[in-house]
Amino acid sequence: MQKRVLVIDAIATHRIRFAALLETARYAVRTVSVSENIGSLRDCDLVVLGLPSHEPGRVISSVLAQLTGTKAPVLCLDAKCTPLRRLLVLRAGARDVLPSKTPDELLLARVRGLIREGEAEREAERRRVTAASFGFSEAAASFGSRARLVCIGELDALPGQLSAVTPHEAVHFPAGRILEEDALSMVPDAFLLHAGHGPDDLSTILPELRDQTHLAPVPIMVVYPEDRPELATHALALGASDIVADTAGLEEIELRIARMLARKASNDAMRRSDEQSYRLAATDPLTGLYNRRYAETYMSGLTERSNGRPIEFSLVLIDLDHFKAVNDVHGHAAGDSVLREVAVRLQDNLRACDLIARYGGEEFMVILPETSPEMAIGLAERLRHAVSNRSVKTSEDAEIVVTASIGVAMGRIDAGMAEQRTGTDDVPCMFDDSPFQSVFEAADAALYLAKTGGRNRVEVSAA
Ligand code: GH3
Ligand code: MG
Ligand code: MG
Repeated sequence: MQKRVLVIDAIATHRIRFAALLETARYAVRTVSVSENIGSLRDCDLVVLGLPSHEPGRVISSVLAQLTGTKAPVLCLDAKCTPLRRLLVLRAGARDVLPSKTPDELLLARVRGLIREGEAEREAERRRVTAASFGFSEAAASFGSRARLVCIGELDALPGQLSAVTPHEAVHFPAGRILEEDALSMVPDAFLLHAGHGPDDLSTILPELRDQTHLAPVPIMVVYPEDRPELATHALALGASDIVADTAGLEEIELRIARMLARKASNDAMRRSDEQSYRLAATDPLTGLYNRRYAETYMSGLTERSNGRPIEFSLVLIDLDHFKAVNDVHGHAAGDSVLREVAVRLQDNLRACDLIARYGGEEFMVILPETSPEMAIGLAERLRHAVSNRSVKTSEDAEIVVTASIGVAMGRIDAGMAEQRTGTDDVPCMFDDSPFQSVFEAADAALYLAKTGGRNRVEVSAA
């Protein structure tokens, strides 16, 4: 989708210049002359605000007040852009501030980066709201404690200055030392990298830091000589998270570090919540085993993973006997303890390559890849024995003995079966919905035989 940029500037020639530049970069641009007139235009991805020489802070506050809800980042352009004004403007809530005469390439690189940041923040907010409605509310990510910072290149004095005014722990590395193994083995919360005076330091160090898998999430702030804006453009193109002119005072650097760490905390929280969602979607909360959905997805994936080689596999269905009676006699909580213990015993008797899932209430399913019928039957007997050979102690000190009935069936994935399934109607297809339907039905029939034959036994499908 085309991103929308709102340009606010009292000076007509500025509006025209920025609008033309942004339009060539394919943004949808709208312009207004005074911040009071945002009105319906405020629904945008970024605001580019030309600052007046007087009271810039008041203008920013007025814009931010009208942007509530949309939370679009504000990039300010300032004719003066002195270190003091920059600090004031950042503190007033602007995301960044650049000189009005900033070269086009740098301006566009910064616009792109800020739009991405705004999107990431809105996504993080949406995930927080979704997670909260599922009952997993996590506090909005923040970075409260001390951070470990690594300063690289001509920033020798910075660690001392930072530790005097912030709780952070900062160390310094000369540019020539940072790519050595011991330096790269550290995982700081952020890097501060001096751009040097030519593109060389940036071009060697930045991509290397970005390429290290363990360092990929660590943000990098690049300090560039103010008269060399092309180095800032270069840094952004190589993946810098923020750029700051070397005229910046300590307070500006401190503020930018704090914001960079807050963004990192938000990204980390988003990643954690993704992992949590994945775990929740794939596993059963009572036993920690994979759930039915995961097992079915795994099975349909086996065909694709066969690489044209035939794969023999066995399917084992395990159903606890008279489990309803366990609940009736000992209570549901005791029943839960038994299910948990049975899950552990089953898992302890499987190989790493076997996949076990809790398929239903007191039903488990095991997929044994590349396993002969003889091995599968032996394994099923071992599982049956592991469930019933000793009682389960519950927290109420009850001793419960359970047995299991087990059905075993063999399956085979032949080369080309994946194509057959998706092939034309006149190619005979082995399975109805899923490629494992018939194997599953065979194992279920064997399980039924085990139940009707007296329970606590293993039956093998004749199919
Ligand atoms: P059968 O030998 O024929 O399999 O008899 P059964 O009692 O095991 O079979 P049935 O299907 O009649 O009952 C299954 C029982 O498993 C009923 C249900 O309350 C219990 N159950 C299912 N899920 C859970 C659970 O998560 N916790 C507990 N405690 N019990 C469960
Ligand atoms: Mg059952
Ligand atoms: Mg049962």
